[in-house]
Amino acid sequence: SEPVLEIRNLNVDYGLGPQAVHAVRDVSLTLHRGEVLGLAGESGSGKSTLAYGMTRLLAPPGAISGGSVIYHPADGEPYDVLSLSDNDLRGFRWAETAIVFQGAMNSLNPVHKISTQLNDVLQAHDPKMSAHARNARCREMLKLVGISPDRMEAYPHQLSGGMRQRVMIGMALILQPQVVIMDEPTTALDVVMQRQILGQLIELRERLGFSVIFITHDLSLLVEFSDRIAIMYGGRIVEEAPATALYKDSLHPYSEGLLGSFPALRGPRRELAGIPGSPPDLKAMPTGCSFHPRCPKAFDPCAETIPALGHPDTPDGGTRSVACWLHPVREPVG
Ligand code: SF4
Ligand code: MG
Repeated sequence: SEPVLEIRNLNVDYGLGPQAVHAVRDVSLTLHRGEVLGLAGESGSGKSTLAYGMTRLLAPPGAISGGSVIYHPADGEPYDVLSLSDNDLRGFRWAETAIVFQGAMNSLNPVHKISTQLNDVLQAHDPKMSAHARNARCREMLKLVGISPDRMEAYPHQLSGGMRQRVMIGMALILQPQVVIMDEPTTALDVVMQRQILGQLIELRERLGFSVIFITHDLSLLVEFSDRIAIMYGGRIVEEAPATALYKDSLHPYSEGLLGSFPALRGPRRELAGIPGSPPDLKAMPTGCSFHPRCPKAFDPCAETIPALGHPDTPDGGTRSVACWLHPVREPVG
């Protein structure tokens, strides 16, 4: 299907000059219309930085140091998000691409009713919309995310964590964006609630046709809810594949390690246990493949040269990519 967002060679640094830390390195990733793209990796792998970078929400000293993010609107010509003016950027966020942040349920304003907060988003975007139309849209959106419209007049503290999280998802969807980015959207909730909310989101995606970038360290959620999965390590994408292919036949040893520490689908969540060692220090990245100090399969070239992300020379190579010296690449990505 057609692309809606094309990230090309995106680089994000923290700081400048020789002290700069390269948090996202040469990331190329395409989000297609209507798909759920999962982004996985341990904390510090660059997942959130990538999300903030592509929507230009980075706080200093974070800054984009290269690349492009081409957005394809529903109608009209594609454009580079990185070259939008601040003013156009305000319209882009919420209306074209909305983000649900980690811990978003705590970002509702405690002194305003839910109705006020939903209304404010609509009013800021379209000041000419009538109060009646706004109210109808708010009610409809709450219903869509499984909250009775009666709760419109509630204050955030009168709702459970799960309900507040649904309100945030409703708020992200209220301007009908084409892309919704969710950064650990349900981490603060229990497992049953997480699955319920994500299941509902997928249903909505089918009805409303938006695309999702779903970021989490929990690969079991991604396998369950994504169409494709990209795995990040040390600021780079090291593997990308359809969710089922990644689950059944991952190519990168880091992906294998993540899958090996896979928590039981219905059991309690636990820390990654399958990969010894810890993620690389971005200030002192290992040479070559940044995974080599932890990799059980490291061999000659690994400590010397960085493997490029590319389509592997396999029958399904056109649908997936990997950056590892074990897998000869037929064609680079990006
Ligand atoms: Fe392991 Fe080498 Fe592949 Fe890196 S390139 S994942 S060190 S085998
Ligand atoms: Mg994060």
